[in-house]
Amino acid sequence: MKYLFKNAYIVSDNRKCDILIDNGTIVDINDEIIIDKSRSDDLELINLEGRIIIRGFADAHLHLDKALLNETYSNESGTLKEAIQLGKKLKRSFSKKDVKERALKTINMCRKHGTFAIRTNVDIDEIVGLNSLDALLELKDELKDELHMQIVAFPQEGIQNSNKNLLYLEEALKRGADIIGGIPAMEEDPIGHIKKVFELAVKYDVDIDMHIDETDDPKSLTIKDLAEITISEGYKGRVTAGHCCSLSANNFEDIKGTINLIKEAEIHIIALPSTNLYLQGRNDVKDFRRGITRVKDLMKLDIPVMIASDNIRDPFNPFGNANLLEAALITAHGCQMGGTNDLNSIFQMVTDIPMKLLNQDTGFKIGEKARFIVLNSYEPWRAIISQSRIFGKYHLKWEKLNS
Ligand SMILES: [Zn+2]
Repeated sequence: MKYLFKNAYIVSDNRKCDILIDNGTIVDINDEIIIDKSRSDDLELINLEGRIIIRGFADAHLHLDKALLNETYSNESGTLKEAIQLGKKLKRSFSKKDVKERALKTINMCRKHGTFAIRTNVDIDEIVGLNSLDALLELKDELKDELHMQIVAFPQEGIQNSNKNLLYLEEALKRGADIIGGIPAMEEDPIGHIKKVFELAVKYDVDIDMHIDETDDPKSLTIKDLAEITISEGYKGRVTAGHCCSLSANNFEDIKGTINLIKEAEIHIIALPSTNLYLQGRNDVKDFRRGITRVKDLMKLDIPVMIASDNIRDPFNPFGNANLLEAALITAHGCQMGGTNDLNSIFQMVTDIPMKLLNQDTGFKIGEKARFIVLNSYEPWRAIISQSRIFGKYHLKWEKLNS
């Protein structure tokens, strides 16, 4: 079966063109492709009329093992402290089956909104053992033709207070976790935590993705230590830092050096707007802070910044639809980025930038397997404002979803 998509707007290449697909492979991309339909019985012609075509959205920071827990248990105070306590309690009863069911439900929410690449954290410690990891490894394998999944072995409870936690973390890497996580804020010696994570990363040759400075305390700037260690360990380009809220709690002049170090270390930054807006600024009695990292300042320095969902309806965040256009809109509000250029940049933060982090293709090339979604929108900035629906998707065949 052949498909000729007319007037597609490939955002990644900033190009309007026609795309010809034959038996699942892109065989031509051109400003105008003309085919005599009467000579080609098996050709379907779809005029996209300039609608946006993308490879899909990529969610680079999720917690599938905890997702949807809030459907049953509520964090009434809403604080990070209660979330950590509740999470600790609930995971005692996690089974592989339970985690797998909730994770699959969440993945289906992601897919419904056009997300086909995800990086999920999974708690690894002596409480939950490797149950959650095993559930996600199974899902990763079962869904490999439809979804690209990376798994981060995440020591949520720290590794310094329990030798078992450290052993489990190493076992998770042996068992197939793709990336090692970290959360230095949980430890008495945060730098020691970072160094231990690097030690394991080097040993197993994996990238690093840490929860860093999820606080509005201006004095907490662990990101600086992370950047310095990244450079000294020769790990440039292989480290990602999520949250980095405290960068926003400081004057720009005071953290300029730290931001330059982030750039030098080639660290990727993930802003997590829904969770940060919900959890940060809670001790402020006036001039409530928003808690989202300095998206605009980091972006201006060409530091790869992306936006992700983080917690979805769990003790840390009661909200979330696994919809990255929604996360983009929340970012636009939270970071006061409503101009056309800013919104177009935000669109990149949920598409091409995380796609690259997750080693996925972004643009469209002749000879590649066709896999994409079409948004019912004509400009990226408008897709965010209008919360565009998906017009249709192509994966082995064309499926029109909305007109
Ligand atoms: Zn997280």
